[in-house]
Amino acid sequence: MNVYVKFVLSIIVYSILMSLVCLWPKAAYTGNYVGNFERIRAVENRPPQVATWSRTPTIIVCEHAPISVTQIGSAVKFWERLGYKFKQTQYKRDPINKCLDKNPMGYILVHMVTDGIRLDDTSLAQTHFYVDNSTSTIDWAIIYMRADLRSTVLEHELGHALGFLHFNRINHIMNQKWEMGGWDTEGLKNNHQ
Ligand SMILES: [Zn+2]
Repeated sequence: MNVYVKFVLSIIVYSILMSLVCLWPKAAYTGNYVGNFERIRAVENRPPQVATWSRTPTIIVCEHAPISVTQIGSAVKFWERLGYKFKQTQYKRDPINKCLDKNPMGYILVHMVTDGIRLDDTSLAQTHFYVDNSTSTIDWAIIYMRADLRSTVLEHELGHALGFLHFNRINHIMNQKWEMGGWDTEGLKNNHQ
């Protein structure tokens, strides 16, 4: 292979990698990028899912989270209709202090955005989720919400908590941009159960 071809190829690989980095939920995923690159390339017509839960997660809406009981209820129903299971939803009830846990194994926590979280002005929320790369399973997820909840945001963040990345189709729930998103659920049905 001559030098020119190698140069062009490395530019192409670089631009693919860069666009993938931009697709990544901000600071959301704590695994390595290279391991997930293969998975993302393999699926094109549906949102990439980097991992699934090995156990059924419990959701806790923590003390200051700007979410009503109705809002969390309908977001949970949205994903249940797609075939996902949640053990239970605890609304502002946290008897074993899971909301203070930095690695809440088996839980999806919903928090108000706090000072320690780097969230730019245009972002409405952020989800961090931890994947065990040896098993490709999700151990825990924490969703940070801003005060003015807009429609589809909580459902979108729960999608990240279930392992989905962005899928930039117009009107899709996992679209990276809220303005371009909507209620389209193409490719989100749970086929693992
Ligand atoms: Zn997102």
